[in-house]
Amino acid sequence: MSDTKYIFVTGGVASSLGKGIISASLAKLLQARGFNVTIQKLDPYINVDPGTMNPFEHGECYVTEDGAETDLDLGHYERFLNISTSQANNITTGRIYQTVITKERKGEYLGKTVQVIPHITDEIKRSIKLLGEDGDYDFVITEIGGTVGDIESLPYIEAVRQMKWEMKTDCLVIHLTLIPYLAASGELKTKPTQHSVKTFLEAGVQPDILVCRTEKHLDTDIRKKIALFCNVTQDAVIESIDADTIYDVPLLMKEEKLDKVVLEMLSLPTDTAADLDDWIQFLNKLKNPKRKVRIGLIGKYVKLNDAYKSIAESFIHAAVANDCEVKLERIDSEDISEESLSDKLGDLNGILVAPGFGERGIEGKIMAIKYARENGIPFLGICLGMQCAVIEFARNVLGLKDAHSTEMNPDTENPIIDIMESQKKITDKGGTMRLGVYPCELTNNTKAKKCYGSANIISERHRHRFEFNNEFLEDFEKSGMIASGINPEFDLVEIIELRDHPWFVGVQFHPEYKSTVANPHPLFVNFVKAAIEVSEAIIN
Ligand code: GLN
Repeated sequence: MSDTKYIFVTGGVASSLGKGIISASLAKLLQARGFNVTIQKLDPYINVDPGTMNPFEHGECYVTEDGAETDLDLGHYERFLNISTSQANNITTGRIYQTVITKERKGEYLGKTVQVIPHITDEIKRSIKLLGEDGDYDFVITEIGGTVGDIESLPYIEAVRQMKWEMKTDCLVIHLTLIPYLAASGELKTKPTQHSVKTFLEAGVQPDILVCRTEKHLDTDIRKKIALFCNVTQDAVIESIDADTIYDVPLLMKEEKLDKVVLEMLSLPTDTAADLDDWIQFLNKLKNPKRKVRIGLIGKYVKLNDAYKSIAESFIHAAVANDCEVKLERIDSEDISEESLSDKLGDLNGILVAPGFGERGIEGKIMAIKYARENGIPFLGICLGMQCAVIEFARNVLGLKDAHSTEMNPDTENPIIDIMESQKKITDKGGTMRLGVYPCELTNNTKAKKCYGSANIISERHRHRFEFNNEFLEDFEKSGMIASGINPEFDLVEIIELRDHPWFVGVQFHPEYKSTVANPHPLFVNFVKAAIEVSEAIIN
């Protein structure tokens, strides 16, 4: 295919309709037909990236191979497509303005007045086209955050208008809207969609395809009506019915022929067959589990599902790989006390302590880890979860009662977890952690090594400032907690595990960012496997 095609996915009527999943599903269908596809998310907020935002604000912060702190939709893109994304795949208003203002300070605008149009819109267009420049991709799908009509989305919509005008047949716009169902009258209503398209038209953009989110099927009459009022062909009215799982959506979009309509509109051949066999097999296993395990997810942002998105999705991939269902029990670490421990954790077949920052909820995490260690419950600690496992071991096995991380207690006599040397002088918060992929050398004859199979050196993504303090390593290893993964260049402990425990592993990195449908992460797969083994041992 010669020219890269640009597809925009915008939203109307309401937020949270699932633009990310629709974008990822379309990308999956095009990929299954043999095209090279990438997806990009444009976020209209002023933060330069979501790294400094509380997960309650914006859900999980996803980290790419190159260390970009990004929107969680990039996680969906990677999980669906099994490709890596990068900083170029997530642009925010903050980043656009930062670039434009830096150029202005350098005098690059040669005395011109710097304005939203054309300078901000040009920078937006440059960021979109950057992905298509090298000719690596047949399609660049760009999802625009927010909804059409939002003040902060305006420059993005204007950039879409300009690109559509400039590129003509190499560009198309998909608009995702909501068709609400009024139970009282038993009717689906199209008016909000009509209004949303009208707002889009006021900005100069005629959407080519409407994807209509709905809880009831759209009949022919309603499709005709939407097509008539919104200037689209009837086959370009695509139903997006509520699904049991996000992994159903590519197949639902295929049934609605979204990919075919896209290809036809871009004058591309539609006779390529989509190979979705593996995906269908994954879905079948997901829907027909042979057994079930209960795993506790202990963290402080458990009240918001999006806060631990990648962890939850990694469990779905690992569950399928084990022919089982993982029932994830989200437990607020602040609710854990000595008294509530067995009540809250007693029924679990596995315990995962989540990543995090700061003091709040830390003691509950440490108590949960002690419970997992003492009762032989499979345990996986991620980042702060690993650090807590180390602190727990120092306090309760090595007898170092005030052992802590200097993040929580800078004055502890036993700084088991300490700030990295390279982090000591850093004062800015944004984008300054140890971020992105680093190699890790695995120790032979360990559970970690067994998980990763034949690999001696693995590469995993990081997002932290603190690390295991090597001064204590010898004492730990003598007492049964060993380092099973080390960064070869800086000698940092990246994985710890207990020698005498069914499965107790802590990782300083984030395996959840690398689990995909096609490649479930081996640590999650083996953790779930251990949970199954322990639960079956109890039953038998
Ligand atoms: N707060 C810890 C650190 O900065 C852990 C970070 C995390 O869990 N992502 O090292």
